[in-house]
Amino acid sequence: MSTLDAHEQHLAVLNRLVEVSLVLNSSLSIDRILTQLMDATTTILEAESASVILRDVNTHELHFLAMPTNSAHSEKLVRIPVPMEGSIAGSIIRESKPIVLNDVTQDPRHYRDADAKSGFQTRSLLGVPMRIKDRVVGALEAVNKIGDHWAENDQFYLEILASQAAIALENAQLVQKLQKANDELAQLDKLKSDFIAIASHELRTPLGVIMGYASFLKEEAKGELSDHATAVLNSALRMRDLIADMTNLRFLNLGESELMREAVSLAQLIDLAKGDTLSVIDTKGHQLSIEMPDEDLALDVDRAKILLAINNILNNAVKFTPTPFGKITVRCTTRTDEVWIQISDNGVGIPQKDLDDIFKAFYQVEDHMTRRHGGMGLGLAIAKSVIEAHGGRIWAESDGPDKGSTFIISLNCSKQEN
Ligand code: ADP
Repeated sequence: MSTLDAHEQHLAVLNRLVEVSLVLNSSLSIDRILTQLMDATTTILEAESASVILRDVNTHELHFLAMPTNSAHSEKLVRIPVPMEGSIAGSIIRESKPIVLNDVTQDPRHYRDADAKSGFQTRSLLGVPMRIKDRVVGALEAVNKIGDHWAENDQFYLEILASQAAIALENAQLVQKLQKANDELAQLDKLKSDFIAIASHELRTPLGVIMGYASFLKEEAKGELSDHATAVLNSALRMRDLIADMTNLRFLNLGESELMREAVSLAQLIDLAKGDTLSVIDTKGHQLSIEMPDEDLALDVDRAKILLAINNILNNAVKFTPTPFGKITVRCTTRTDEVWIQISDNGVGIPQKDLDDIFKAFYQVEDHMTRRHGGMGLGLAIAKSVIEAHGGRIWAESDGPDKGSTFIISLNCSKQEN
């Protein structure tokens, strides 16, 4: 071969190596990387076969991975244990040095059992260590050079392949670890959700009994006993709200596909929310005013879930507004193809630094131990999840402590056609 031909051939192999590098690094399955690596090794080095010997990270035992002889392109590899002492791969890995053998049968280190188990006859072998940083993780071997002896550049090409494969393998292993950690987290999360769902469901039945008997007692008892019954009933009602919060935890991370959308009139929605909260508003003696657009609108929403979000905000407005002189306003306005539902109060207000954080689950402005208001810190997180599943936005505004708060829900809308 002329020098020019040799140069051209060298260039062609280098181009092929770049291609192989891209293929190896775009794969995240370890077996796939190894089969692609062995394929590339046999074609580039003109060898009959190739094998990878990997060192187990825990036991440090070696495993010879080979393509089954009957299906050269299968992705399922045969794994055969190889001794660290008394094998060529063991020597490459221990000494971190390449080995070039044109006649394996003359080398006492050749591990003949691997041939027997894979059904392959090894004649010549070129092997290099596979390194990740300064760790030798295995060896890559080209087996049985077709025709002649191993060529001058073969070792150089094999070393490039081995280093590219080592990086691809490490990436794939890291992704697998990450995937496993993610799966474990998802399992834990499911366990937690199941526990909360079961616990909240089981708590509801005895609470119903407590509330029933406390109501009878309150009606029938007189004097101090009636006050005691009222105290039991009030506490039971608070507990019912907490259990409802727990039950609604399932709406955190709500997906769009979990919505049961239907056309709902805005006026009807606000009316329902008013009906749900009127008794607590009246009990606290707050004033409620509602401002609606002249023309009603149809919203394409999940009625029950949107109502839950609006109620959570309305209930907060009641809860965080001291009596007397509490004023709560629900103002609905339209802008292009959005409707804004603004719920304002003249209550305790929210410090600027907390305006975003209050939408996180379990976040409360007041310290948990000293807080005067009940609640688990879930209402706004659930409201945000519901609104965002609808493709809407929710945010809070406040001029600071004691300056009241406004919560704004923005939803897509279209004018009602009738
Ligand atoms: P919870 O009401 O159970 O504490 P939320 O998620 O509904 O949980 O609210 C989180 C926190 O946001 C509340 O603890 C409170 O500190 C603050 N917050 C919510 N609504 C108001 C409001 N209208 N006025 C003042 N602070 C509010």
